[in-house]
Amino acid sequence: MAKFDCDLFVIGGGSGGVRAGRIAAGHGARVIVAEEYRYGGTCVIRGCIPKKLFTYASHYAEDFEDAAAYGWRLPAEPVFDWATLITNKDREIERLSGLYRKALTGAGAEILDGRAVLADPHSIEIGGRTITAGTVLIATGGHPVVPEQPGAELGITSNEAFHLERFPRRVLIVGGGYIALEFAGIFNGLGAKVTLAYRGEQILRGFDDDVRNFLADEIVKKGVELRLRAMPQRLERRAEAIAALFPDGSAVEVDAVLYATGRKANTSGMGLKEAGVVLAPSGVVKVDAESRSSVPHIYAIGDCTDRINLTPVAIREGHAFADSVFGKKPWRMNHEDVPAAVFSAPVVGTVGLSEADALARFGQLDIYKTSFRPLRHTLTGREERTLMKLVVDRASQRVVGGHMVGPNAAEIIQMLAIAVKMGATKAELDETVALHPTAAEEFVTMRSPSSRPERAGAA
Ligand code: NDP
Repeated sequence: MAKFDCDLFVIGGGSGGVRAGRIAAGHGARVIVAEEYRYGGTCVIRGCIPKKLFTYASHYAEDFEDAAAYGWRLPAEPVFDWATLITNKDREIERLSGLYRKALTGAGAEILDGRAVLADPHSIEIGGRTITAGTVLIATGGHPVVPEQPGAELGITSNEAFHLERFPRRVLIVGGGYIALEFAGIFNGLGAKVTLAYRGEQILRGFDDDVRNFLADEIVKKGVELRLRAMPQRLERRAEAIAALFPDGSAVEVDAVLYATGRKANTSGMGLKEAGVVLAPSGVVKVDAESRSSVPHIYAIGDCTDRINLTPVAIREGHAFADSVFGKKPWRMNHEDVPAAVFSAPVVGTVGLSEADALARFGQLDIYKTSFRPLRHTLTGREERTLMKLVVDRASQRVVGGHMVGPNAAEIIQMLAIAVKMGATKAELDETVALHPTAAEEFVTMRSPSSRPERAGAA
């Protein structure tokens, strides 16, 4: 008789939990996965995927305009229908969620719909049942948080933004991170008047400064009103509109206020602390490099651990966990040089270190930087520009950072990330023959440094 009802109980059916469950089942483990909402998690249901579909939708307005320069005459003024976008997006999300369920059952895992709570370190309660497990994996992700301020209940988060019944003609976005910038691009592209209010000096804190400044200029050119060092104090209902009141006495009247002010781990009310799992003050599960919590048979991966909150990271953490614990193939997720993109308009792609971080680490750098108008816009006359930047450690000549703002930046940086991960030098990039005419070729044709910064005191 097996000692436990299952070998692995996964709490959370998002990208990380599903990967871990599927791989562990493939290794022969008896796996149960529980999800309280919909399989697929944040990324599939209300994150990456619907967001990317919305960004496609939002780009058509410019594409229709630009088409004229290439000889196209559109029969009538294009009209955007929000309801169609929502319906089609929902259909695709439903399909993907179904595939996630199938991926698990196909691998031999059992799936349960409901909220799972730890009753003791080896027992999980769900839907009136108690199930015992040899190993538990917490993969519960996170949820958006809204600042405490008067009228905050009038605002929405990214969760609701995917289901608005009516398209908001005027939107205030609060925050200056990934979600704020992505929705600014989406709503602006779809024709809304967008104001973005960020409390800090410049958007996208933590990104390379050139990227931050460049993107800020580009979104303003596209019509977003950018308010820096600005944070509404309160929201008020005014007839059909919402008024956001700022400390300087100004007010912005909009149809929707979207708070994109960060996310918090889903770890409360699950019996974690009672089971002995140590949480950080922010609520994330504290884990070691093997994703093991303070309780040796309870592991955690993905956003509920707050290492790098990106889907592919959660997936790899889940895969490493499953291979290591159930497949006799131990390995660890390496969190260095993880590429990332902000699907703003224009898109940001980045891998490795920002100039500031590289300077702090290496002391002496060669910076290669170019900005240009994409070929496509020589005919359209659009003032959009592209930025590309390489950060090179002067001593080793290794490329330690690559950054881009512009069309296809995410696709291009994904490929550059291979070179960065392999430790490529600038000379090795230069040995690669350019593919002409592309934007990506700039990464192998930047000949001389645009600057050679040195940290004070660096030899
Ligand atoms: P971020 O952490 O990226 O940004 C949060 C923003 O809100 C920051 O600008 C922050 O300001 C601001 N903020 C935080 N608290 C407050 C407050 N109390 N009042 C005013 N402003 C506040 O979080 P997001 O919510 O945008 O996204 C969460 C995470 O999800 C991202 O960090 C990323 O890891 C992931 N994600 C990834 C995407 C992708 O891969 N394309 C897309 C979307 C999300 P400050 O900088 O001053 O702290």
